[in-house]
Amino acid sequence: MTNKKMTPADYIAREDKYGAHNYHPLPVVLEKGEGIYVWDVEGKKYFDFLSAYSAVNQGHCHPKIINALTEQAKELTLTSRAFYSSVLGEFEEYMAKYFGFDKVLPMNTGAEADETALKLCRRWGYDKKGIPENQAKIIVCADNFHGRTITIISMSTDPDSYKGFGPYTPGFVTVPYNDLDALAKELEDPNVAGFLVEPIQGEAGVYVPDEGYLKKAYEMCKEKNVLFIADEVQTGIARTGKLLACDHEGVKPDILILGKAISGGVFPVSAVLADDDVMLVIKPGEHGSTYGGNPLGCKVAMAALDVIKDEKLAENAERLGKIFREEMLSIDSDMIELVRGKGLLNAVAIKPKNGKTAWDVCVAMKENGLIAKPTHEHIIRFAPPLVINEEELREAIDIIKKTLAQFA
Ligand code: PLP
Repeated sequence: MTNKKMTPADYIAREDKYGAHNYHPLPVVLEKGEGIYVWDVEGKKYFDFLSAYSAVNQGHCHPKIINALTEQAKELTLTSRAFYSSVLGEFEEYMAKYFGFDKVLPMNTGAEADETALKLCRRWGYDKKGIPENQAKIIVCADNFHGRTITIISMSTDPDSYKGFGPYTPGFVTVPYNDLDALAKELEDPNVAGFLVEPIQGEAGVYVPDEGYLKKAYEMCKEKNVLFIADEVQTGIARTGKLLACDHEGVKPDILILGKAISGGVFPVSAVLADDDVMLVIKPGEHGSTYGGNPLGCKVAMAALDVIKDEKLAENAERLGKIFREEMLSIDSDMIELVRGKGLLNAVAIKPKNGKTAWDVCVAMKENGLIAKPTHEHIIRFAPPLVINEEELREAIDIIKKTLAQFA
C-alpha cells in the first residue's frame, strides 16, 4: 500500500509491523529532500540537522551527484572485481591524489571499511613488524563507535552495542579517549600493531579531544612502530571545517578510513587509504566485496568529492560552525548543559527538566520545522548539510531558540 491517503501513523505502523526493531526513529516520515531541507509525507518542510549522520554533507539530491549517478547507471553499474572496469582506475587515481595516499581499497559501508583497516593492520603487524602469529593487538578508545559487525562491537564499551552478542573477537585493548598516558602504557607492548581512533567521537556525543592529542598520539605511535589509524567516516569530508579532522593537527594517518559523505548520501561507498608499505600486504583473494569499487559508486563518489572542493564546503563549515556554537552558548536556558564541536559537527548536552529530555526537545524542534536526533539520551547532535548559508543557519538557530524557550 502506498498512496496519498496514508497518514504518517500508517507509515510508522507499517515499518513497525514488517521491519526489525533495531532503530528508534523520531516520528517523522520523509519523502523528499533538496539541499538542506527535507519534506514529510504531508508536505511539511524541515531543516535537516542530522544529514543522515553526516553522510549528506553536500545536501540532499545534489544535482551534480545525481547526474553522475544517472549517467553511469545507463552505462554500467556492476562488474564485480573479477574483471577490470573503465571507471575503477579513474576513481582510485582520483582518491589517491585527492587525499594524498599511494593507494585506495574501496568498500561500501563504514563498518566494512573499518573491518578492512583492522585486517590491513593485523597483516602489516605480522608481515612487516614481525609480531608472532595470532598475537597482534590493536589499541582502541573507550566510547568508540566504528559500526555494528561482530568484530567492531567487540571493540565497543557501549553495552547497547555489544551486550548479548558474544563471544567477541579478541585482540583489542581499550584506553580512555584523550588520554595520552594510558596510550603510552599500552604502546609498550611490542605486539601492538595499531591504534584506531576517531579524531572526534561523533556517536559518543561529539567529544572533541584536547588540542594536540592526535598529533602527540601519532608521534607516539611512530616511535613504537605502530600504525595510526583514523576513522574519519563521520568526521571526514569537510564536516569539521577541514577536509579531514586530522588536518586540524597536520596528521597524516597510516591508514585512513572514509565512508558516508564520500558519496554524498547517494550510494554507499567507503574506502580505506594507505601508502604502499601498508596497502600491499593484502594480496589477491585475501579481501574484497562484490560491490566494492563498482562503477556507479565510483562515479558518484568522484562527483561528491568534486562538490566538496568546488563549493568550498570545508571553509563554509569552519565559518558557520563558529557562529553556531556562539549562538548556542548565548541561549539563556537552564536545559543547556554544554555546547561543543568543530565545524558543523556540534552537540548540545541537555539537562532534563520537569521530566522533559533531549528526546522531547527533538520532538518539539520537529514541530517547529527542524529535525535532529539525540545520541546517548541527553546529547543532541546538530550537523546540517554543509551547503547551508549564514542566513539559513540563523533561521535554524531561531527555531532551536524558540523551541528551548517553550521549555522555560
Ligand atoms: N565509523 C564511524 C566513526 C561512524 O560514525 C560510523 C557510523 O556512524 C561508522 C564507522 C559505521 O558506518 P556505517 O554505518 O556506514 O557502517
